[in-house]
Amino acid sequence: MEFCPECDSLLIIEKQGKKNLLKCRDCNYTVKLNKKRAESFILSDEIQHKENERTEIVEDDNASQAIPTEIREDLMESYRESIESFHY
Ligand SMILES: [Zn+2]
Repeated sequence: MEFCPECDSLLIIEKQGKKNLLKCRDCNYTVKLNKKRAESFILSDEIQHKENERTEIVEDDNASQAIPTEIREDLMESYRESIESFHY
């Protein structure tokens, strides 16, 4: 997961030809996504996810801040797809 440095919104993956970009949903901030970056996102998300499961009840106060599971899963799927496309 990465957030926009400009407005703190969630960055989503946008495919542009063979390139993958991370794009902000609110402003037009974009940054190029590379393989290393995508892999580290997946890794950190998996760690975070495990921690969230362990502290589920405690974390309840932050529920409004959390990314909906649906969006999160879609995004992680995009990250995985983008890694697979980094074969050149
Ligand atoms: Zn933004």
